[in-house]
Amino acid sequence: MKKSWQTVVIVGAQWGDEGKGKVTDYYAAKTDYVVRFQGGNNAGHTIVHQGKTHKLHLLPSGVLHQRNKVVIGNGVVVDPKVLLFELNQLAKINIRPKLLISERAHLIFPFHVCLDSAGERRQAKAALAALSTNRGIWPAYADKAARVGIRMVDLINPIIFKRKFDLAFTLGQEKISSLYGLKIKLNKQRIFKEYQSYGNKLKKYVADISQELNLALTKGKKILLEGAQGAMLDVDHGLYPYTTSSNTTAGAACTGTGLAPQKIEKAVGVVKAYLSRVGGGYLPTELKGSLGDAIREIGGEYGTTTGRARRIGWLDLVQLRLAVRVNGLNALAITKIDVLNGLPEVKVCTAYCVGKKIIREMPADLSLYEKCRPIYKTFKGWELASSNKKSYEDLPLSMRQYLGFIEKELGVKIEMVSVGPERQATIIKINKIRALNQHKAS
Ligand code: GDP
Repeated sequence: MKKSWQTVVIVGAQWGDEGKGKVTDYYAAKTDYVVRFQGGNNAGHTIVHQGKTHKLHLLPSGVLHQRNKVVIGNGVVVDPKVLLFELNQLAKINIRPKLLISERAHLIFPFHVCLDSAGERRQAKAALAALSTNRGIWPAYADKAARVGIRMVDLINPIIFKRKFDLAFTLGQEKISSLYGLKIKLNKQRIFKEYQSYGNKLKKYVADISQELNLALTKGKKILLEGAQGAMLDVDHGLYPYTTSSNTTAGAACTGTGLAPQKIEKAVGVVKAYLSRVGGGYLPTELKGSLGDAIREIGGEYGTTTGRARRIGWLDLVQLRLAVRVNGLNALAITKIDVLNGLPEVKVCTAYCVGKKIIREMPADLSLYEKCRPIYKTFKGWELASSNKKSYEDLPLSMRQYLGFIEKELGVKIEMVSVGPERQATIIKINKIRALNQHKAS
């Protein structure tokens, strides 16, 4: 009998911070490789190891499962200082990941970080403030697209690195001084030496990831591709320009690793039972009053990377339809449903209206989007006792009605419901037909 899946991609279906870490952790226990394919250290996940909390921004969240190889794909932009710091932190707790870094992954330099903060100050006028994490991510992607970026393979070749660094540094410094008019003078020699030493420390991890992963598949190995951020932050399909600078949807798992599309067998979308987002821009289901504040506090909705308070809203099916379609989602993992515990009612936005016009799909036109008002379906709230946290059937009826409605509207099965941050507060919902087949096969 064929195994259930050999490759799975796990992506955020909303605005990031859906709780992907916990879902990834569950699937990672069954895999041989955990791979990041986009973004940089602007992502963040929290892992708890022997009672201690660790925050990782660059390494895949599968690092704790020491049998896995963890991979940083070519689609990721790597700040080597952050990577070495995370490796050192893990070494202190005796975790030495089997790490591979794509030779094609681009690097972040101090001039990127500098440009990031300068750019954000300028964009503040365009309400894009507080969107960037000031880690140099977008300037590194911009250099990649402008073809002046420096890749891991360059960093570990002293002659090529010197030549490419000269050009990239000069361009970076010019942009800082001329474009943004800042009087910052970066120390070229110091940065060059620092990066040479990073190269020496990291070269043992640098590899051809595409070959490694494709070969692993022929040997029957399992691969988990771990997305960062969420569908609405995808630079093409998200709410541009309120997005991140990479593709966050499942297609990026191919371009960001060198695995062909038909190799990806399953796409799991992580959906928080409400929504949260950072940055400016209109949010149709936003809860601005005390209810939003209470959900933020109970859900701990403050950025892992920046500590910023997140904006809160009701679940939005218009937005999720886009996530389902673009990612080709064939399973959903619903997280943080416990946070809504005790509310008298819970709402879901099923469509928008603009005057008398009903809109069911996300508009690309922001001026139209800003006129969209949510149409809600209201559900009775629930009380989730710890005795409810065993099987799907134990969940309160009104919660199951809410979940059933999401499944039906989106046409995708819920596979997992997370009812608390702990590993054991996870309910695996087995759909009846699959369960029957499994029963017959065994
Ligand atoms: P990511 O950005 O999508 O990777 O989000 P994280 O994995 O960092 O998760 C954000 C926070 O949500 C972490 O502190 C998790 O422990 C917490 N979390 C995950 N699932 C649940 C859940 O079902 N209930 C509650 N209350 N917290 C959860």
